[in-house]
Amino acid sequence: MFTRILKFDVFNRSKLEFLNYIEKFSKVNIVSGNPEILYNGLNDSRLLRSFTSKSTVIIPDGLGTVLASKIVRPSVKEKIAGIEVMEALIEKCSEEGNPIYLLGARQNILENCIKNLKIKYPNLNIAGSHNGYFDLDECEDIIQNIKESGAHILFVAMGAPRQDIFIAENMDRLPCRVYMGVGGSFDVFSGKTKRAPAWMIKSGLEWLYRVFKEPWRIRRLSSIPKFLLKVIVCNKRFSQ
Ligand code: UDP
Repeated sequence: MFTRILKFDVFNRSKLEFLNYIEKFSKVNIVSGNPEILYNGLNDSRLLRSFTSKSTVIIPDGLGTVLASKIVRPSVKEKIAGIEVMEALIEKCSEEGNPIYLLGARQNILENCIKNLKIKYPNLNIAGSHNGYFDLDECEDIIQNIKESGAHILFVAMGAPRQDIFIAENMDRLPCRVYMGVGGSFDVFSGKTKRAPAWMIKSGLEWLYRVFKEPWRIRRLSSIPKFLLKVIVCNKRFSQ
């Protein structure tokens, strides 16, 4: 069910199987394991502890992670996009009446995201929200607000590694069942940014579309070759 990539166990079955698998957890952190996020995990002991904890499940979100799994084997069945898992969870919450909390993005983006989600899922209970611009070391009021919201799922859209640090540091003292760092997903739901065309998503080229739309992202792609090189070197060493 998992493929070991460097220090991480990455879920290697389908998205549907993943959604069933997380049902058994009383508390779970879903990590969208793209090379940048996993590379951060290798270089930060707090994140490493969080990403390798029993309450964390890493999904292969990104072509780099899919390629890495082909090197170490068994290869993952499919790429699982974090935003698609988020949407599936939201749909389920709206059907079952479970409240969610949205943490992250700029205030106007967050408001548009909430507005659009409410249009798409009229029964969805968004029990609370807060923008993502605050001091991580001084956010007791936000923690309290999340606690009081009674949210079942906490979506954190503050980009990597900020969102992962927030979850690593606070998950133990929060009562939500599911935690998920969702990067720029609120921007997509707000209508500010668009996902790549379906054919690009299918061919694993969503990253290319994002770089084309937001050229500053090119710098962040450097973690892909660094990550893959590490995978190749470790795999060679291991197989010798
Ligand atoms: N963001 C935030 N707080 C910060 C920095 C960023 O809430 O201190 C938000 C930002 O407004 C955007 C998201 O985090 O909505 C960044 O997503 P990005 O596209 O960088 O994430 P990715 O999808 O690439 O992981």
